[in-house]
Amino acid sequence: MTAKLIDGVQISKELRAEFQIRASRLRAAGIVPGLAVIIVGEDPASRIYVRNKAKACEAIGMHSEVHALPQTTSQAELLDYIARLNGNPAIHGVLVQLPLPRHIDGRAVLEAISVDKDVDGFHFCNVGQLIVGDAMFPPCTPYGCMKMLEHSGIAVEGSRAVVVGRSTIVGKPMALMLINAGATVTVCNSKTRDLAEITRSADILVAAVGKPKMITGDMIKPGAAVIDVGINRLPDGTLCGDVDFAAAKEVAGWITPVPGGVGPMTITMLLSNTLKGAERTAGLRTSMADTRIV
Ligand code: NDP
Repeated sequence: MTAKLIDGVQISKELRAEFQIRASRLRAAGIVPGLAVIIVGEDPASRIYVRNKAKACEAIGMHSEVHALPQTTSQAELLDYIARLNGNPAIHGVLVQLPLPRHIDGRAVLEAISVDKDVDGFHFCNVGQLIVGDAMFPPCTPYGCMKMLEHSGIAVEGSRAVVVGRSTIVGKPMALMLINAGATVTVCNSKTRDLAEITRSADILVAAVGKPKMITGDMIKPGAAVIDVGINRLPDGTLCGDVDFAAAKEVAGWITPVPGGVGPMTITMLLSNTLKGAERTAGLRTSMADTRIV
């Protein structure tokens, strides 16, 4: 069997074309949707992510600003920065690029972002809304995975889903979104016994671990949908996912590539969340609970 490719670049292109129209509608109403990204320190990978986010905003007619702060920035200075962006009416989304330097309490920083501008969806309030069943700002990476499943016509309701990884930013919210969509979900971690036996039971398998090619072909149920969140750099400089793509595509029914899968979708859902924030400011959205509307 050769799996069908779930092309994150193509799906993103289609969604971003819709976002462009929504952004121009907002601009006509006098509101330019705006995203502010704060980055602390010099981590080269984070710098690239931030630049890509800014470029994606500009490409669909949104305003973006990057605030690059030195590694030595204190927690108080960072909180002060966030407070100013929270109060800036031209900004509808505030994002602090992770990871932060060790001397800064990441949780305190995420809680300082206004709930109404928390486009990464990491504030306790947004996490709580997700547990209840709906959130204004679902976390972008799992949200992108759900959109890929939806776009590919893969039924989540009634499926058996397995998420490998339980991080706060990917694994856990991914599991919650799958639960909310009616899947029966198992979440695995580094202590899980008989991992392959569990992954082989999955109609939908999400790998979010950070270990190159650890999901091998024999760990996949024939015909399953395989979503590879992992981004790993190999010694030769190339990128690969957590799934052994060459082997997995011979077993799976659907598969996402790395690069070109979940990565672009993460940025696309960030644009979606920022647009939603701006639309609410414009009075075009009143509900907090509308994850089903992109
Ligand atoms: P974390 O390191 O925070 O979490 C990794 C998870 O994998 C942990 O829960 C860990 O378990 C689990 N794990 C580790 N080893 C095993 C194993 N042998 N078997 C089963 N589970 C295991 O990573 P993130 O969730 O932040 O990221 C995961 C991957 O996704 C990374 O490659 C990252 O680069 C990528 N990523 C990609 C994004 C995108 O846009 N495409 C966005 C965000 C992340 P335990 O909790 O027990 O330690």
